[in-house]
Amino acid sequence: MSVVEKISSNELISLENQYGAHNYHPLPVVLNRGEGVFVWDVEGKKYYDFLSAYSAVNQGHCHPKIINALVNQAQTLTLTSRAFYNDKLGNYEQFITQLFGFDKVLPMNTGAEAVETAIKICRKWAYEKKGIPEHEAIIVVCENNFHGRTTTIISFSNDENARKNFGPYTAGFVKIAYDDVTAFKTILESSKNIAGILVEPIQGEAGVYVPANDYLMQIKELCNQHNVLFIADEIQTGIARTGSLLAVCGDCNCEAQCERQDTYATPDILILGKAVSGGVYPVSAVLANDAIMNVIKPGQHGSTFGGNPLAAAVATAALEVVADEKLAQNARRLGKLFRAKLNDYIQSSSIVSLVRGKGLLNAIVINDSEESSTAWDICMKLAENGLLAKPTHGNIIRFAPPLVMTEEQLLECVSIIIQTLKEFEK
Ligand SMILES: *Cc1c(COP(=O)(O)O)cnc(C)c1O
Repeated sequence: MSVVEKISSNELISLENQYGAHNYHPLPVVLNRGEGVFVWDVEGKKYYDFLSAYSAVNQGHCHPKIINALVNQAQTLTLTSRAFYNDKLGNYEQFITQLFGFDKVLPMNTGAEAVETAIKICRKWAYEKKGIPEHEAIIVVCENNFHGRTTTIISFSNDENARKNFGPYTAGFVKIAYDDVTAFKTILESSKNIAGILVEPIQGEAGVYVPANDYLMQIKELCNQHNVLFIADEIQTGIARTGSLLAVCGDCNCEAQCERQDTYATPDILILGKAVSGGVYPVSAVLANDAIMNVIKPGQHGSTFGGNPLAAAVATAALEVVADEKLAQNARRLGKLFRAKLNDYIQSSSIVSLVRGKGLLNAIVINDSEESSTAWDICMKLAENGLLAKPTHGNIIRFAPPLVMTEEQLLECVSIIIQTLKEFEK
């Protein structure tokens, strides 16, 4: 082939519009390259990525160590299915369980699959260990949760857009307010059939809602008292995003790789996804101790791709990068700086009413109605100015750059954001 004609962004967008299902509403930017904190569009324009594929690319785009692991393993062995053993899975399982402090891991691919896995484990444990009568187990979930897109998961969503006309819904879930310990206490006292509570340590999709400092510890405490499983969905908050390896670690001042602290609300079941692979390959994981995980026997759960050698090699490298490059510490430090700078700005702003978050998972609340297009218009302007972010829930913009960002880069991004916001001030 000699001359390959370059296809423009507009042509590529029309192709997706014509041939792809319209299940997303992307910003009109077509990317074809990424490196570290940057991505480039097909016209060669460079952007700071402030979404990181919903926190999957914490380690930065195309991290050389992770890509190297991918390429090496891809040339050796990619998939065996779990009908046979492979030489990568055991080492990975040992590594990830030791890193997070659990007896066992059940490897899956996407986040939603891992949530489904956790729900199945919790229910089986409830019937076989706790003695709840069959078909009566209840899992408590929170208002405004986001746990994925399967039929069971959307059954307990309260986002009408995610739910409507996808019924009949899966039974066995009860919703309570987020960040409300009393609501959980009340439901525990009203029913003997509570098997577990599924909770996001910070609600990312809902708009980066950070609960009270002691919320998770109190939930955990109540779970202990009532023999109920505390299931933490750390798919978005985990892997250093919020300034510690896990968001359930809470605030601590450890300078080493962040590990278990006094404030650690140890989940009974921990769900990970997204950045487990650094955004290179779909890898998710469910971790638990033997007393819980051993309820699953051969034939009762699985996935053709779950635990494949390519996933194991990629995830091992991606988790090593987090420790090697001290990404938790970097996220913590830069997150504080980011919020301080934006808080300074909003003192005199009429367009932004609030900045909140933890580590490098942050959001600004736009001073306009949820139905207004202001947040979208700001994101369009941010893109024009070289920074990609996306509104979540109408008037909220989430800011979640890769954690490999330097202080100098972060300050440049802050100035792009502030310059852009200034164009919208009244
Ligand atoms: C992204 C996400 C999921 C779903 O993960 P998928 O890989 O998209 O299925 C579940 N829970 C939380 C908190 C998430 O952010």
